[in-house]
Amino acid sequence: MPEGSTERQTALTSHAGREIAEPVRDDERNVRCPDCDKVVSASKGSHPAPDDAPTDRIWGWQCGVCENTLPSNALRENAPTFNDRITAVEVTFRDGSQRLVPAPKTHVYSGDQA
Ligand SMILES: [Zn+2]
Repeated sequence: MPEGSTERQTALTSHAGREIAEPVRDDERNVRCPDCDKVVSASKGSHPAPDDAPTDRIWGWQCGVCENTLPSNALRENAPTFNDRITAVEVTFRDGSQRLVPAPKTHVYSGDQA
């Protein structure tokens, strides 16, 4: 029997382990991690997306403990609340649901890659 067999695959450039989950909003309008209940409101910004997402980063919050990316809401691609550096992409959440989320335009993979 080999000692300490480590079969974890790690790729430096991948965001393996990242999951997209719905943020939880509490009565005091805090944003919380759905897994550990940590208040993540202050992490608003762009955060790594899972490898299979159509973008490298997603705008919203993250839980540094659980490696959850918690997207903000996006109703359509040119929502008036976006500035010209944010667009909306459809991503798949860990529960299999899909919806539009905000993402920095420069991080969205272009569709015309061969
Ligand atoms: Zn968490």
